[in-house]
Amino acid sequence: MDRRGMDLTGPLGARPAVDRPVAAVVGLGAALAIGAVALVAAGGPGPAAGTGVPWWALALLVVVFGLSERFAFHVEYRREALSFTLSEVPTAFALAFVGAPAAIGSRLLGSVIIIVAVWRSPLYKIWFNASLFAFETAFAYAIVRRATSLAGDGPEVLLLASVAAVSIATLLGSVIVSVAIACFEGDLAVRARSELQLAVVTVPVSAAAAGLALAPALIHPWLTLLSVFPVVVIGLGIRRHGHLVQRHRDLEALHGFTAAVTHSLRVEDIVDAGLAEAVHLMRAERGHLVVCGGVGRPATSRAHGTLIPLPEGAMAGEGSSARSAADPASDPASAATIIEEIRDDQGLIGFLALADRSGASRAFEPADVTRTRTLVEQLALALRRALLYADIEHAALHDALTGLPNRVLFERSVTAAIVDGGHGGVLMLDLDRFKEVNDTLGHQVGDRLLVLYAQRIRGVLRPGDLLARLAGDEFAVLIAGADTAALAGTAQRLLDASRAPFNLDDLDLVVTASVGIAAFDGVDDAAEVLRRADVAMYTAKQTHAGSETYCATDDARTPARLSLLTDLRSALANGELAVHYQPKVDLATATIVGAEALARWHHAVRGWVSPAEFVPLAEETGLIRQLTDQVLAQALRDVGDWHRRGHRLSVSVNLSTHDLLDQSLAARVAQRLREADLTPDVLTLEITESALLTDAPRTLQTVQQLHDMGIRLSIDDFGTGYSSLSYLRKLPVSEVKVDQSFVANVLLDDQDLVIVRSTIDLGHNLGLQVVAEGIETQAVLDHLRTLGCDIGQGYGISRPLDAARFASWLATTEFRSPARHWTTAG
Ligand code: C2E
Ligand code: CA
Ligand code: CA
Repeated sequence: MDRRGMDLTGPLGARPAVDRPVAAVVGLGAALAIGAVALVAAGGPGPAAGTGVPWWALALLVVVFGLSERFAFHVEYRREALSFTLSEVPTAFALAFVGAPAAIGSRLLGSVIIIVAVWRSPLYKIWFNASLFAFETAFAYAIVRRATSLAGDGPEVLLLASVAAVSIATLLGSVIVSVAIACFEGDLAVRARSELQLAVVTVPVSAAAAGLALAPALIHPWLTLLSVFPVVVIGLGIRRHGHLVQRHRDLEALHGFTAAVTHSLRVEDIVDAGLAEAVHLMRAERGHLVVCGGVGRPATSRAHGTLIPLPEGAMAGEGSSARSAADPASDPASAATIIEEIRDDQGLIGFLALADRSGASRAFEPADVTRTRTLVEQLALALRRALLYADIEHAALHDALTGLPNRVLFERSVTAAIVDGGHGGVLMLDLDRFKEVNDTLGHQVGDRLLVLYAQRIRGVLRPGDLLARLAGDEFAVLIAGADTAALAGTAQRLLDASRAPFNLDDLDLVVTASVGIAAFDGVDDAAEVLRRADVAMYTAKQTHAGSETYCATDDARTPARLSLLTDLRSALANGELAVHYQPKVDLATATIVGAEALARWHHAVRGWVSPAEFVPLAEETGLIRQLTDQVLAQALRDVGDWHRRGHRLSVSVNLSTHDLLDQSLAARVAQRLREADLTPDVLTLEITESALLTDAPRTLQTVQQLHDMGIRLSIDDFGTGYSSLSYLRKLPVSEVKVDQSFVANVLLDDQDLVIVRSTIDLGHNLGLQVVAEGIETQAVLDHLRTLGCDIGQGYGISRPLDAARFASWLATTEFRSPARHWTTAG
């Protein structure tokens, strides 16, 4: 079996410009040609010369040489694709029956016709192969001549000598081919070794075929017909074996390929693995795999070696112009290229392009195209799965209308930016009166407007800024690495961009927006940054300022507060507010004198809401009147209950500034006292200093009315406002409550001690009772007693308790029962 001439590997086929190796190979060819001529000239025509071979026998020889070249066997050997011919068979015949020049002539004629017409090898290859064939043949003749001159030319000698000669000539040819390949690729030793390793397997087979064919022919020329049979059987056997091995390899390769591309659900991973495997399996020196881009997903493209030009529009997913080219007839560059569309029944997915097949032949063969298609089918399955997965992931994190990131992705990104550290912030952007667009022009127009709007503001952002659509007409921008000034600058650019009208259905729509700005500012929670930006945006809407930067005082105007207000309104309407009581104790006698009534609200969703939150809300919205009324009524009912149980206590109820501005307050209180059947002296009303300062004449009038009714008045949170004790002199008050902020630190802070002591002294000078609130410990309580403070209140005595718990506290406490100096009215 003859190594079929030279099928050079290496980049030369595609780039004839590299000519040093070509020159070397051409030179080698020349040396072989000279060698062949010399061998023939030195040895004479050979044993069979002059025996008179008929012309048709020579023609037959040419045909057989041609056939052996045409039906070369392509065998895979150690990842190399190699081609073999059974040219040893006709060579052996020629050795036995034909002279050397005729043999060389017919071999060259038959082989070169095929090499030129079928394989279309380049000229230098044709030259090299022709020289090699001539040399091999001449060399075989030299061996046979040697043998016959030593042992005579009997048929046995001729048979053995011919078989030996073709075997040795083939081995020598292998070595010469490896020298030629080494001209391109170097590594002569490795090349030669692998060629010879292969020859060790193939030479005995071809020798056997040559022997089997030649033996009957030597008995009688007509018996040559017998030899056709075994040779064809051997040829078919090799071919079939080759196919089976190839099928097995293909299956194995496909299995490996499928495993590699289904390993991951990420498109990038599949593209990487798919390209590497395809290049490896198809022995391509260059490869290019592209997955077309889709909605919200850029194209993915990976190349192995220099880029292979793909059909125009491939990245964008416009397929159909791709071709499978194993098309040696077209220009030499594309002859070595396969471009396959990756598609399934849902459409085009991408392209796989392979170029420059290494190994036996530069161009891909039809079988390679078929194998590539099988790989591409597997790729299509794996990629479709990954694309579906990516779509699902994308949908979960993006807004369907605009394709922008949604709130989930935005919050994630903000968290990441905060973790990264550094400056930055969030802009919250809301269109003004977008609802009107929806209501008057319909949702479709509204949707289109949002898409256009998103595109426009995208245009004024830096590439690194993240624009998201959080809801309806609400957008947000994450700007990393920007200080407050830069944030405000971007906000202004957004507003400016919003101003130009949008043309929709021949309507010019002008959209204005409000932007809230919140810097990270050391906040470590994305939700809080978003909330701040939201509050600032809400403020911007109210102030019509366009943009506002978050400021803590803005919190009062938040939508959350509005919804809380709605709930408070219904809680008041349904009587859901409760009143808890915190005892007040006479410090000198350890006797309970009364309790402060404190409003409590348990919200169905938010749980306990602090009065510090809902009382100001009620004050701002006028609900305070209702709130005071309900607390007052409930407190008086509970006092009546305590009295009936024998506890003669008073109750303190808090008033707000707004209550004092209400001129009907005194009348309302009188009404509540009557309803509860109680005398006014059981009631103390607590008023803050600041309440007394606002609208003084009206407030003073109300205070005076209440005093005249016999109700005790107390100044709450004393020390935190602006009033002086001398101011108190003018007021008909009976009690001051030293603010808990001073009481808490009375043992620790000298300044606070001074305030507490002087308040007690001056209060006593004015004839007022002094109450210390916020007593948390026994030590503070003891100290206040020594300072002469009259009454104490605080967690140290008892926390505020609901009515039932307060009643049981009264029954079990170690503080003494109140003196029976109050009487119920009537
Ligand atoms: P305030 O009138 O100064 O009420 C005393 C507050 O101090 C109460 O908080 C009470 O629970 C708390 N407190 C009592 N002892 C201690 C203590 O030892 N340590 C500490 N840290 N705190 C103590 P609360 O109930 O949260 O009330 C807060 C404010 O809400 C009240 O301050 C009052 O201004 C207002 N408020 C409560 N109920 C009403 C009401 O019915 N009407 C009006 N207008 N305002 C009320
Ligand atoms: Ca109070
Ligand atoms: Ca207070």
